[in-house]
Amino acid sequence: MTKKYPKLKFIISKKKEVDTYLAFLEDSKYRDNSREMNWAFYQHHPKLKVLRNKNLSLGQRKAIVEKYVDNFYKKHLRRIKAETDKTKKNWRKVEKIFYEMTDEIFGNYKWPNGKYIAYPTIWGMYPRFLDDKTFQFPPRHKKRNYILVSIAHEMLHFIFYDYVYKKFPKLKSHKYDFDLWNVSEAFNVVIQNSPKWVKIFNQKTMSYPEHKNLISKLKKIWEKTNGNIDRFLREALRF
Ligand SMILES: [Zn+2]
Repeated sequence: MTKKYPKLKFIISKKKEVDTYLAFLEDSKYRDNSREMNWAFYQHHPKLKVLRNKNLSLGQRKAIVEKYVDNFYKKHLRRIKAETDKTKKNWRKVEKIFYEMTDEIFGNYKWPNGKYIAYPTIWGMYPRFLDDKTFQFPPRHKKRNYILVSIAHEMLHFIFYDYVYKKFPKLKSHKYDFDLWNVSEAFNVVIQNSPKWVKIFNQKTMSYPEHKNLISKLKKIWEKTNGNIDRFLREALRF
């Protein structure tokens, strides 16, 4: 029996760029995400700093971002296309081993249904959308091999969340969102920075500075439970 793995598509979409801005904006209503807004938009696109003006309406913001994205893509479309094609080719070379390594971790757990689309982004953060299994990735990056690592990173999130919600349905409650997000990020670091994964991808994943302690805690649990995902999660998800 052949196993069914998602076939990741690569699509260029200016709309997705604008949507991502709007998603960050929405998030800013509930928590202070100015650090992430800075990483994502202002650091590398200083012209967008006009958006920091608190008096702008949603419509005005949307228009500013749409125009900026439009201009940027007009100027750089050829490059972004070439980089996206190259990324797609490179992903096709590692996807099989990626899926095998993921099978090993999650005990051949079935991949959740979804669109599985990777969109290149000009922004400095690469959000994922758990509901429809889409995410953004950097079409170019200063760290060699980082692009494939970021794709593997988002894919791991998709299967991780699906698995956790299936085994621990009570964690679907939004009050656990933040704790679960922390664990999902630290889990990725434990897995992606393990010698086996680094050997395949030739690069480590990124980690948030505030997750340093959690990462070493989860690494210990992962080793103690011999990488048994259920035993690992039972300990790691004690909120
Ligand atoms: Zn992540």
